[in-house]
Amino acid sequence: MAILVLGGAGYIGSHTVYQLIDAGRDVVVADNLETGYRAAVHPDAVFYEGDIRDRAFVDSVFEKETIEGVIHFAANSLVGESMTDPLKYYDNNLCGTKVLLESMVAHGIDKIVFSSTAATYGEPERVPILETDTTEPTNCYGETKLSMEKMFKWTSQAHGLRFVSLRYFNACGAHVSGSIGESHKPESHLIPLILQVPNGQREHISIFGDDYDTKDGTCVRDYIHVTDLAQAHVLAMDYLMRGGESSIFNLGNGIGFTVKEVIDTARMVTGHPIPAKVAPRRAGDPARLIASSEKAKHILGWKPEHADLKHIIETAWKWHKAHPDGFAREK
Ligand code: UDP
Repeated sequence: MAILVLGGAGYIGSHTVYQLIDAGRDVVVADNLETGYRAAVHPDAVFYEGDIRDRAFVDSVFEKETIEGVIHFAANSLVGESMTDPLKYYDNNLCGTKVLLESMVAHGIDKIVFSSTAATYGEPERVPILETDTTEPTNCYGETKLSMEKMFKWTSQAHGLRFVSLRYFNACGAHVSGSIGESHKPESHLIPLILQVPNGQREHISIFGDDYDTKDGTCVRDYIHVTDLAQAHVLAMDYLMRGGESSIFNLGNGIGFTVKEVIDTARMVTGHPIPAKVAPRRAGDPARLIASSEKAKHILGWKPEHADLKHIIETAWKWHKAHPDGFAREK
């Protein structure tokens, strides 16, 4: 019996495959390689190239392999792009999930762990954010993820499937081995952009706004190591296998760091002065996003092990220094 990881060639997906294999699981990966990389897929995983919107493809994987549960990462995830091309997000994230669920129901596969996001909350009513807080996404990406959660909810009621939705805060860092890491093209996330400066690929880092109501005026985020996120997926699948009921969990460290604090820590790790310039605010950025992950700790037994920001940036630096251009596209 294997776990099927959809989107297992992407950033968080590839790290989850490594954690599953370390835990002794058989893993099948399916990915359309649109934003993921073949080289990110663990060599011990069985790999299928294909798209979840293609029903024949999804059916064929369920027919060839003995799948006991699905972990679903196959989605587009760029906030800015979701605002300029919303229908791309509806097509891939929602239509893709619809096809996947139809095929799961047809094949009697009843467990799914799904990657959701803090963007489902929108501007938070308070921090730390609880799973029961209001969800009013301020961008199309968050809206599609929230709609996917609802699709799981209603499908689970009608067809008896069970799901766990994991709402990530700011995923970052890289596998401690240095063999896999973040490789987005174009890159839009803070830590990899900062590290482009000591890597000689960027003159300075822009700070998007320094007039927020925070301790140094820059935005506060909850940075959570990708291996800790990956481990939560393994635990969530175990939970469903033990008969756990459908549920939603936040995943973060519960600690907020400002943009300036992240830059200072990167200066310390890399020994580079990393010049920074203040730029205008980025549209749609809430001042503060911090998770309460008590529920995941209590119910899933999740314990982040890479919570220290310096350690997080060290793992990211190890990866980016050795792979300044990320993964090469092999297609
Ligand atoms: N940010 C920044 N400069 C950059 C990229 C990001 O100041 O070049 C800020 C951004 O405004 C946010 C934080 O860094 O407050 C984290 O942004 P990121 O895109 O990494 O993640 P998000 O919080 O949007 O999911």
